[in-house]
Amino acid sequence: MPEKVPDCLFCKIVTGEVPATVVRATERTLAFRDINPQAPTHVLVIPKEHYANAAELASAADALVSEVLLEAHAVAVDDGIAEAGYRLVFNTGPNAGQTVDHMHCHVIGGRQMHWPPG
Ligand code: 5GP
Ligand code: ZN
Repeated sequence: MPEKVPDCLFCKIVTGEVPATVVRATERTLAFRDINPQAPTHVLVIPKEHYANAAELASAADALVSEVLLEAHAVAVDDGIAEAGYRLVFNTGPNAGQTVDHMHCHVIGGRQMHWPPG
């Protein structure tokens, strides 16, 4: 299992060192509201273990990747937006605007969204 990374903001949210508004938790995942929401629902679902991005988690060939996706859908159900629709985003690297190098799935919804994104 990957080690906790000392300077990682989301590892600190997992340990409780940094507070967050947690909406769901499983043994291996955590879902909390984004501090700077871009829509009425904006939740981040993360593996509690540190993986830098989605590809790194997928490379581990672990059921954890599907657990993150199932939890993302559960967040949408909990917030009552699953039927209207929602967006899942995995920013990866600088051009995508990834600012926290701990894999996270943005669950965004509660309003009409547009495609392509900016
Ligand atoms: P990224 O840009 O890496 O895909 O997404 C990082 C997200 O983390 C951003 O949407 C940002 O608003 C959110 N974020 C940054 N710092 C904090 C924090 O301390 N608490 C919470 N809940 N979200 C944060
Ligand atoms: Zn981390």
